[in-house]
Amino acid sequence: MNGDAIRETFVRFFERHGHRRISGASVVPVNDPTLLFVNSGMAPLKKYFTGEKVPPAPELCNVQGCIRTKDIDDVGDRHHITYFEMLGSWSIDGYFKERAVELAHELLTGDLGLDPRRLYVTVFGGDTGLGLPADEESALAWERAGIPRDRVVALPAEDNFWGPAGDSGPCGPCTEVFLDTGEEFGPAYVPGGAFDTKQRYIEIWNAGVFMEFDKGLDGVLRPLPFTSVDTGSGLERMELALNGLDSVHDTSLLAPLVRSVQDVLGEKGEVLHHHRVIADHMRAAVAIMSDGVRPGNEGRGYIPRRLIRKCVTMAMGRHQERFDFEPIVEAVVGSLGGTYPHFATEQTAVMAAIAQERDEFGHTVRRGLDQLDKVIAQRGRVSGSDAFNLFATYGLPVEITRDLAAARGVTLDREEFDSALRRHKVLSRGVPEGGERRRLRTGDVLPAAVRGATEFLGYDTLESDGVIRTLFSGGTTVEEVEAGSGADVIVDRTPFYGEGGGQIGDRGTVRVPARPGSGGEITETVVHDGGGFLHRVEVTGGSLRVGDTVVLTVDPSARVMTAANHTATHLLGAALRSVLGPHVHQAGSLVEPQRLRFDFTHPRALTTDELTAVERLVNEWVLTDSHRHVEVMTQEEAKASGAISLEGEDYGEAVRVLSFGDFSKELCGGTHVDHTSQIGSFRIVSEQSIASGVRRVVAVTRQRAVEHSIEQASSLSEVATTLRASPKDVVSAARRLVEAARTPKAGTSARVTGAHETVVNDIPVMLAQAEGSVGGLREEARREAEERGRVVLLWNASGERKTLVVSVPKRLGDRLRADDLLANATRRLGGGGGGNAVIAQGGVDVPPTRESLLEVLTETRPG
Ligand code: ATP
Ligand code: MG
Repeated sequence: MNGDAIRETFVRFFERHGHRRISGASVVPVNDPTLLFVNSGMAPLKKYFTGEKVPPAPELCNVQGCIRTKDIDDVGDRHHITYFEMLGSWSIDGYFKERAVELAHELLTGDLGLDPRRLYVTVFGGDTGLGLPADEESALAWERAGIPRDRVVALPAEDNFWGPAGDSGPCGPCTEVFLDTGEEFGPAYVPGGAFDTKQRYIEIWNAGVFMEFDKGLDGVLRPLPFTSVDTGSGLERMELALNGLDSVHDTSLLAPLVRSVQDVLGEKGEVLHHHRVIADHMRAAVAIMSDGVRPGNEGRGYIPRRLIRKCVTMAMGRHQERFDFEPIVEAVVGSLGGTYPHFATEQTAVMAAIAQERDEFGHTVRRGLDQLDKVIAQRGRVSGSDAFNLFATYGLPVEITRDLAAARGVTLDREEFDSALRRHKVLSRGVPEGGERRRLRTGDVLPAAVRGATEFLGYDTLESDGVIRTLFSGGTTVEEVEAGSGADVIVDRTPFYGEGGGQIGDRGTVRVPARPGSGGEITETVVHDGGGFLHRVEVTGGSLRVGDTVVLTVDPSARVMTAANHTATHLLGAALRSVLGPHVHQAGSLVEPQRLRFDFTHPRALTTDELTAVERLVNEWVLTDSHRHVEVMTQEEAKASGAISLEGEDYGEAVRVLSFGDFSKELCGGTHVDHTSQIGSFRIVSEQSIASGVRRVVAVTRQRAVEHSIEQASSLSEVATTLRASPKDVVSAARRLVEAARTPKAGTSARVTGAHETVVNDIPVMLAQAEGSVGGLREEARREAEERGRVVLLWNASGERKTLVVSVPKRLGDRLRADDLLANATRRLGGGGGGNAVIAQGGVDVPPTRESLLEVLTETRPG
């Protein structure tokens, strides 16, 4: 069975048993800032297990692309890869252990036809710390299904107790299926002895995470309101099992990639470690980049950067001038493009981005490699700070330095490197090690008792009361927080806007009316994934307690500025579409009190005229004083009404459609002005490119816009003063200045082009076109004539008047006169002028040519 057949067999099996097939998500998590990449089939579904969202059916199955960054360093072994496809099945508040085990056994030994004698399973062996007994129920279920007891291995919590994902939330015991890959990989398991999960026995299926507990932030396990089963199996490992392969790199999914790596490196024959690594890394980079991530220095972008750079370095370390990766990407798309069509549609863009990364990094690798060789030659070792310097100066990732050093027979002290890195971070941030206060993150799972959404009142009011539901301080939930401490506070209702939709959260104050003096500053507001609003509070007086009724007051001036900027962002989007065309789509935005930032798709820089038109249009709309109009409707209704929405944004069931006049209509949960005149004035501060095809406009409103105009006007008048012009003449004055700087000054030399030297009637002559003032031409002609002892004719045909300058050196004065020559020329070419024996100048009607001047010279007989 190849990869395609296994995918279908798995999903069909579960469909046949009542599961609904759902599509896999992108490897980039949507609305989940806690996760760098989707690393399991369960990750995009996690809200189903906490009850925060209702699943489309209680029993589900799918195939999900996963990225496991923590396994990157293991790649090259038999069974760990960075990108893999996870086959998953779920039961949410449905069947539990017994049925899950039954289904797993039936699929493995039935539809997939695995030899049951090659299978071992592990179960949770109990944990006194957690106060939990061994999972006998699962062990019995396996026995009943047909796995003998001596192949059921009980393992401790660190192996077979899953979760929670963060500090708190759903968790429970799990059971995993292992494949016996044969005695060549190690001794057989003896019941009661150690079970080797690294070499001989390879995990092929986590056949059931049995979520039955809710771990609170206090560390206590409580029963969940409902139980669930989550399973996941790596497609590549399953193919290894079914086809008796040595490693995942021999599967139908990866073998063609490994071959193409060998071709590219010209290293046919035995498959080497780095062939496997490059095949895997390029596949993972393509998967990540096909979902829109581009190599960069931070966050998600750092992973494709690290993967590509490692491949580039490996290839160059194998004496390649350049890493010609294209055939490898083609092999990836050839193998997965049918299942994941976006791999194919994004191929060109992904290739271009990889090429750019390769080219930028290639030079660095060269220099880094040279430097590394120098270090090794001088010191015979690579210290942690050497590795850190290579990283800081050449961007050489430490694992690459380690690999290169290893290839030269030198080891690297990783701990020394880590401490050098830590020292650097401490220095550059000024934060003492470990001194950052642990705050509640929006993705942390909260105990069920305090879950639930905060009611937002801030569309209509800036002050309201609310009751404190949760206080989170010092890494845990607490009952009271006293002055001098920070706390994250969740209340039942609030006028504070929580950061979202590009708009930053409100700031303000909180006080406890029942205990005058008690309260604090709210510095930031964010929305927890569960819907509760987290107010980051510095308690400045008395204390805050759970259950307190508090008065929450939003800083009105910050809010009004934010609202003006948010509405202006909508008007800016509408104006850009109106001026540039309907291809303009919002690609991101940031709304703060001080300014707004709007990113959008457009292939070119905006011209000054376009920018002016946009500014003018927005300001016209501001002056219409249109009122804010809000309607709450369903997503479908909103779409039908033509409101603009952002792809990938989760607006919830009922959406707010916000419009101003007939020019702006968008889905938006942010806070806005009541009427557009509150924006006051709108000015664009800058326009630039941030990625290919994406532009960024930064703009300001209200007082900031006025300040911007005043600053511009005062710079203008300063420029005018410097130029000794009035502000309204400043442009022409500047032009003159630039023009004058370009043309040589009168009296200084002229620039001669296309000089032609010849001899006429034994007299040496130079003919040339020249640029410059008349004075410049004269000076040049005189100098040239005397220094070189020849007759010189210079003409300037580029200006309106065609100037001709003639000069005869003194030593030829007995044979020829400059004014005679000029007279002959003007007779022939029209015009007039005069001079003396050595220099003459005039204006001619017909532009002189070399030929016409040569004729003039031939005619002018030497005296
Ligand atoms: P291991 O201990 O072998 O790394 P794991 O415990 O990390 O596996 P789980 O988190 O339980 O694995 O993931 C479920 C399944 O996903 C595994 O049974 C395996 O089939 C697959 N899987 C996990 N990590 C990888 C990987 N890096 N490459 C390929 N498949 C993987
Ligand atoms: Mg693992």
